[in-house]
Amino acid sequence: MSFKIDLTIIGAGVVGLAIASEVAGEGVFVLEKNHSFGLETSSRHSEVVHGGIYYPENSLKAKLCIEGNALLYEFCEKHGVGYKKLGKIVSAIEKNEIEALEMLYEQAKKNGVDGIRLISENELKRLEPNVAGIAGMLSPPTGIADSYSFMKALYNKATNRGAQCIFNCEIIGITKLRSNYQVTIKEPGGISSFLTPLIINCAGLNAEKVAALAGINTAKAGYQTHLLKGDYFSIPPKKWGRVKKLIYPVPKKVGVGIHICIAVDGRERFGPDEYYVEEINYQVDENKRELFYNFAKKYFPFLEMDDLEPESSGIRPIRQSSRETMKDFIIAHEADKGLPGLINLIGIESPGFTSSLAIGRYVKKLTREI
Ligand SMILES: Cc1cc2nc3c(=O)[nH]c(=O)nc-3n(C[C@H](O)[C@H](O)[C@H](O)COP(=O)(O)OP(=O)(O)OC[C@H]3O[C@@H](n4cnc5c(N)ncnc54)[C@H](O)[C@@H]3O)c2cc1C
Repeated sequence: MSFKIDLTIIGAGVVGLAIASEVAGEGVFVLEKNHSFGLETSSRHSEVVHGGIYYPENSLKAKLCIEGNALLYEFCEKHGVGYKKLGKIVSAIEKNEIEALEMLYEQAKKNGVDGIRLISENELKRLEPNVAGIAGMLSPPTGIADSYSFMKALYNKATNRGAQCIFNCEIIGITKLRSNYQVTIKEPGGISSFLTPLIINCAGLNAEKVAALAGINTAKAGYQTHLLKGDYFSIPPKKWGRVKKLIYPVPKKVGVGIHICIAVDGRERFGPDEYYVEEINYQVDENKRELFYNFAKKYFPFLEMDDLEPESSGIRPIRQSSRETMKDFIIAHEADKGLPGLINLIGIESPGFTSSLAIGRYVKKLTREI
C-alpha cells in the first residue's frame, strides 16, 4: 500500500467496525493485523447486552452503555442479527450481600437503567424456580446478541458505504509530519507507509502500544492497561434451558462476577472469572473445574461437577490494577498532546460490546470537530 488515505481506523474489532459503519465513505480504511475481523476480544466475551448497572454515574461507561444498549437492539432488529432481550437477575444468596445489592440498585437507578427494581425471594423463585437466592434485582433491558453476526453486519454496512478493510496489515509506526501522519505498516508482502491526516486507534489489547507508537508517554497520560483474563466452562445440552434470564451474583471485585451465559442459539456457559495475567494466552486451566463448580452450585443447584468442561477465555485491556477501583474508558482527541487528528480509545473493556454503536457515534462527533 502506498497512497494517501483520509481516515485510518486501526483495528477491526467490534469497536473499529462500529466506528467504520458510522464514518464510512471513500477514503476510510480499516487496517487489521489478523486475517479477518473480530478475532480477538470481540469474539471472546459473554455476548451480554448490558443494562448499565455497574458504572459510576456520568462515566463514559454508564452513558455509552445505556445509549449503546438501545442502539444495539435497534440495529439487530433492522439488520437481522440474532438477539434476545432476556432480562437479568442479580441474585443475593446470603444476608450479608443485601446491602451491596441495594447499593447496586441505587447506582443503577442513578444511571437511568430502565425498569430496574429489587425483587423478593418469592418473586425470584416465581421467575426462576431453578435458581437459588434470598433477594434479587431485576434488570429488564439486559439481553444477549450474536456477536459474530453483529460484526458481520457492521462490516457489510461500512464496506457498502465505501470504507475498505485491509486484513493482514499491522501498524508498526506512526510519525507526525506537518499536516499528516506517516503510518508504517507490515503486510505479508513487506513493509510500506502511507500518509493520513486522521487516525482512530481502536487496537484493543494493543491500543496502549499504538498510542506509544505515536509518541505518547502512556504512563504519564494515564493510558496504561493491564490484561484481565476470564475463563468459561461449558454446561452440557441436557442442562440447558433451566434458567430463562441471565443470572449474576452480587459483584465482589472489579468485574460483574461469574455468571451464566446464554447464547442466542441456546448454548449455555458459565464464566468468566477474573485474574490478571502478564501475557496473552487463551488456554483454560482444567483444574479450575472445582472452583467454578463450588461457585456455580450456590446459584444453580441442578449443576454437577462433571457438567463443567473448559470452554474458552477472553482477555480485556483494563486500566485499573488489582489494587484500584474501576476506571473509565478513555476516548480522546490528542490535540492537546500536539497530535491533532489522532483519536485514542484506551481500556475499552466491558461493556465495550454493548457500547460499540454509541462509541461509533461519539467518535464520529469528535472527527467532525477536528
Ligand atoms: C471475558 C470477557 C467478557 C466480556 N463480556 C462482555 C459482555 O458481556 N458485554 C460487553 O458489552 N462487553 C463484554 N466484554 C468487553 C468486550 O468484549 C470488549 O469491550 C470489546 O470486544 C472490545 O472491542 P475492540 O474492538 O475494542 O477490541 P478487539 O476486539 O480486541 O479489537 C481490536 C483489534 O485491533 C487489532 N489490532 C491490534 N493491534 C493492531 C495493529 N498494530 N495493527 C492493526 N490491527 C491491530 C486486533 O487484531 C483486533 O482485531 C468482555 C470482555 C471479556 C474479555
